[in-house]
Amino acid sequence: MNLILLGAPGAGKGTQAEVIEREIGIPQISTGNILKAAVKNATPIGLKAKSFMDSGALVPDDVVIGILKERIAEPDCKNGFILDGFPRTIPQAEALEAMGVTIDKVISIEVADEKIEARLSGRRACTQCGATYHTVFNPPKTEGVCDKCGGPLVIRDDDKPETVKERLRVYKEKTAPLIDFYKGKGKLSVVIGQEEVADTSKLVLETVRA
Ligand code: AMP
Repeated sequence: MNLILLGAPGAGKGTQAEVIEREIGIPQISTGNILKAAVKNATPIGLKAKSFMDSGALVPDDVVIGILKERIAEPDCKNGFILDGFPRTIPQAEALEAMGVTIDKVISIEVADEKIEARLSGRRACTQCGATYHTVFNPPKTEGVCDKCGGPLVIRDDDKPETVKERLRVYKEKTAPLIDFYKGKGKLSVVIGQEEVADTSKLVLETVRA
């Protein structure tokens, strides 16, 4: 089963992708996490992507499409995968089709704008493994420490207020049109993001299993 999670930054795609991975047993593929690892390791792709990411812009389509193509060719993807943060533009969605990838379901997680800003301001990420938390909605067991690897939690550069504003603008301009793109193909399901992560997960899993 190949799934796409759509939604604004802060809608909870990453958190829900982790839940689906655990419950359904197909891997989460986050182009954002792959790019962040590339930046951290100062690889050629990371060096190219960093300035776009720091300013809240999208990394160029050709770079991200190349990353995705390599990742889905890996053996753990043979029974399916969950795309979290890809596609983010119509050309990326078209590239996926050109690769011959069949998408079974697209789940759009919808959250009102004013809630998104509150959510992003509480977001924390592990500097070692990239796992994400929220000070209110999804706190780690020990404040400032990653549950999974014990690494330190920080506010990512792209979660800083001025960058958040730009990311939301870019989402509306470039990514939101994908909702109609997949609706037109009869693949779209909408899940309204709930206050509690577990309540959203319930709706997401019902949609995946339907
Ligand atoms: P995310 O963690 O998904 O919000 O991704 C962090 C940043 O990585 C984004 O703000 C973009 O700069 C970049 N990025 C991640 N996925 C993509 C994509 N599919 N296309 C372009 N840029 C991306």
